[in-house]
Amino acid sequence: MAELKSCKICKLNYQVTDDDLKFYESVSPVFNGKKYFIPSPTLCPNCRQQRRLSFCNEFNLYPGECGMCKKRTLTEHPPHANQPIYCKECWHSDKWEPRDFGREVDFGRPFFDQVHDLKSSVPAQALTIDGENLNCDYMHYAGSSKNCYLIMHADFCENCSYGYGFKKVISCVDGFYNLHSELCYDCVDVYKCYGLKGCQDCVNCSSSAFLRDCIGCQNCFLSVGLRNKQYYFQSKQLSKEEYESKMREIDLGSYTQYQKCHARLKELEKDYCFKQFHTTNVQNCSGDYLKNCKDVQFGFDCEDVEGGKYLFQMVLGSKNVYDIYQYGTNLQASYECCISGANGYGLVFTLDGHMSSKNLAYCWYIEHGENLFGCVSMHHRSYCILNKQYTQEEYEALVPKVIEHMQKSNEWGEFFDSKIALFGYNKTTAQMWFPMKKEDVLTRGWKWDEYESERPNVVSVIKAADLPDNISDVDDEILQAAIECEESGKLFKLTPFELSFYRDNRLPLPRKAFYQRNLARFARRNPRKFYKRSCEKCSKEILTTYTKELAAKVCCEECYMKAVY
Ligand SMILES: [Zn+2]
Ligand SMILES: [Zn+2]
Ligand SMILES: [Zn+2]
Repeated sequence: MAELKSCKICKLNYQVTDDDLKFYESVSPVFNGKKYFIPSPTLCPNCRQQRRLSFCNEFNLYPGECGMCKKRTLTEHPPHANQPIYCKECWHSDKWEPRDFGREVDFGRPFFDQVHDLKSSVPAQALTIDGENLNCDYMHYAGSSKNCYLIMHADFCENCSYGYGFKKVISCVDGFYNLHSELCYDCVDVYKCYGLKGCQDCVNCSSSAFLRDCIGCQNCFLSVGLRNKQYYFQSKQLSKEEYESKMREIDLGSYTQYQKCHARLKELEKDYCFKQFHTTNVQNCSGDYLKNCKDVQFGFDCEDVEGGKYLFQMVLGSKNVYDIYQYGTNLQASYECCISGANGYGLVFTLDGHMSSKNLAYCWYIEHGENLFGCVSMHHRSYCILNKQYTQEEYEALVPKVIEHMQKSNEWGEFFDSKIALFGYNKTTAQMWFPMKKEDVLTRGWKWDEYESERPNVVSVIKAADLPDNISDVDDEILQAAIECEESGKLFKLTPFELSFYRDNRLPLPRKAFYQRNLARFARRNPRKFYKRSCEKCSKEILTTYTKELAAKVCCEECYMKAVY
């Protein structure tokens, strides 16, 4: 029976529908022929999402060392956490055995505490990298890529740097949600695009710069809301010759010029009437930034997903899933997971369930695992509880006892508590979407972490303001120096690949560190909230994710279609 519940944390009411209850039943695990029902959630959808995000440190990487081969690496674990780490090669090698850390279940203690203690003692991968990769030592929550550097939530990429949400892209730098695209710079939400600079919300566009909400355009500059156009310059149709002569006067290799164009685009957007949602080819869905989805409710940033609810950043095919933060890729019949997918099936309350894992509950970093309960940092194992090996019969007899224990301690049916997260709340993705103050975080018994890496030892430091305005005036010596970010004061270095990318594509050097650039792009996108506004054209009341700050004018889908086509 459908219920109206009050969230245990924020006290807001939320609805649990009959379909939701059917789903919880369908993913409830079976042991020894008996189904162990997953109860309906005690937190509202937002608090559940916040709880999952509080386990993800996607952007704060620290210098570290592999505990086995002593190779230097970057890692998501700050040095004071004392988390043992191995590099990708050592972690996957047979030189160690995660079951050696296995332990008996203690029925006198909360189960989550036991999982946390185990997690803190078993060597973790320094960075979360999956699949076959070549020359991609410094990426995180990413996989199956070649020659990439500092890309996150990314897969199937080649020659990319500084990206978030990159899928199947080549030679893209500094982007947020670039899908199936090539040679894009400083672009946000571009799909099947080629050779774009400073664009946002574009599909099938090429050889253009500073476009917003355009489809099928080539050789266009500083324009909004175009469909299948060529040679548009500042929203005016020009001839090919006129356009080319205008473009000769524009040098985006100049930082000043680049910033002016950005500001001009913002001006143009003020008069533009945006469509209420960014969705393409969806059927019976609610949410935003959805592509090729069917029957997805409250989904955001999803592509090719069928059947599910409360889904965030699910890509490349998933089915029958609820409450997932990242990443899908054919994840099925799963509930309350974080950073999980790649042909997973039957994953519940699991963080990092990767590579064809099946029937995992309360696990924390598993590759190719099956029938595991409360296990951490393992691959190719089955029938373990807290990393201790059992036979199938023993496993099926013991798990129900653990579940009964967790029912008594109010842990069964809940995702891991944020109290056992490994990172300070302020270092996690939760702080981006659900910003909180230090005292409020501490009041909830969660962690806060003020540690910053020491400034790197470099020969010289150049203040961002002292960089040459034009890329033509930058010489190779810049590679030996560090640049001081104009916003955070943190130092960052350029890679040789990056410098040649800026030179080849006539782009200015960045003045801000990657983290700040990424936050700025994040701020260009809409929140995962619905606002009631009225359609600019027909005055009908509509739902939209645009705040007044992000779009002065919004319109309903029908009015939008009439206006732009
Ligand atoms: Zn809540
Ligand atoms: Zn190693
Ligand atoms: Zn309308």
